[in-house]
Amino acid sequence: MSPHSSLASTALDADRILVIYTGGTIGMEQHAHGLSPGGDFAARMAAALTQLPIAHQRSLPAYDVVSYSTLIDSSAATPLTWQQLAHDINDKLSTYAGFVIIHGTDTLSWTASSLAYQLQGLDRPVVLTGAMKPLETEHSDGLENLHGALQFAAKPELKEVAIYFAGKLLRGARAIKQHSEALDAFASPSYPLLGERVGDDFVYYPSRGLGLQQRGAPRFELPDYGCVCHGEVIRIVLWPGIAAWQLDAWLSDSRIKGALLQLWGAGNLPDAPDLLDVMAKASGEGKLLAAISQCPQGSIQLGAYAAGHGLNDAGILAGDDMTPEAAFTKLVHLLAQPLPSELRRQRFIASLVGER
Ligand code: ASP
Repeated sequence: MSPHSSLASTALDADRILVIYTGGTIGMEQHAHGLSPGGDFAARMAAALTQLPIAHQRSLPAYDVVSYSTLIDSSAATPLTWQQLAHDINDKLSTYAGFVIIHGTDTLSWTASSLAYQLQGLDRPVVLTGAMKPLETEHSDGLENLHGALQFAAKPELKEVAIYFAGKLLRGARAIKQHSEALDAFASPSYPLLGERVGDDFVYYPSRGLGLQQRGAPRFELPDYGCVCHGEVIRIVLWPGIAAWQLDAWLSDSRIKGALLQLWGAGNLPDAPDLLDVMAKASGEGKLLAAISQCPQGSIQLGAYAAGHGLNDAGILAGDDMTPEAAFTKLVHLLAQPLPSELRRQRFIASLVGER
């Protein structure tokens, strides 16, 4: 999945933006088996942008486009996709002032969360966007999303991985896809917007961003995700009636290195000691186990209720108000690195990029 340049212009310009096209509905075309990613995105994007009012076209930053040679529906993304993007941004960091990643919406918030951990200390914008409808279809949201993503990617004050979608700029590591059909498909349930479109303006709120904290050179962490891309990290959402043998079937597998457990409410699970025993056994084997709520909003307090008592003793790390995307990709990121177990645990419960 290596990128190839698809624009003739390669002029270096301190203010240029690099657009990386990975696939997704925004660039899809109807084929025999349904929608699938279409090529020639640079020309299609340029043609779409000419539909903006002249004043808006003039305010666009200069940009280049690279397209991945294998374009995907983002449901096919894996940790290796996240790794590839981080490496490509790292490779081009000295050439571009900002980045726009064109991505399918289905796993866009997963990629954004992963990039946030890999690109720690980022000193410029990385903005992911996509669309719910292909760029060339009637009433597509693609043009507005491209426009806003380019505008925010040109703001040097924005120094983090963000998502621009439907007029909203969201922290990447706080975002979820909240709707399967509506154009306003993304939300950041536990953190305010980093910015938004207000009339013709694209307004960034610096007090909510990481930019004010960013000091010195970026501290990218680009571990090889090859050791965590074959199912070594899992996600289990509890359901009423879950039995210890079912949990054990997952957690006792020697290939498993980490698990995200989604508990009920403020961090509760069934009153079944054998469930806790299974978790404690896995933790004791050095597996990294973390918990968040199934509720999209609010935090968990392990042990606040009797029904959650025992989770701390079983070695479960509290994920507080992290999204499933942020918690899962953090496990992947930490487990890909050769860290001592205690340091890994400390880093999980710390806020690395404003994800909790
Ligand atoms: N299945 C598509 C994708 O994630 C959905 C979209 O882009 O809206 O690539």
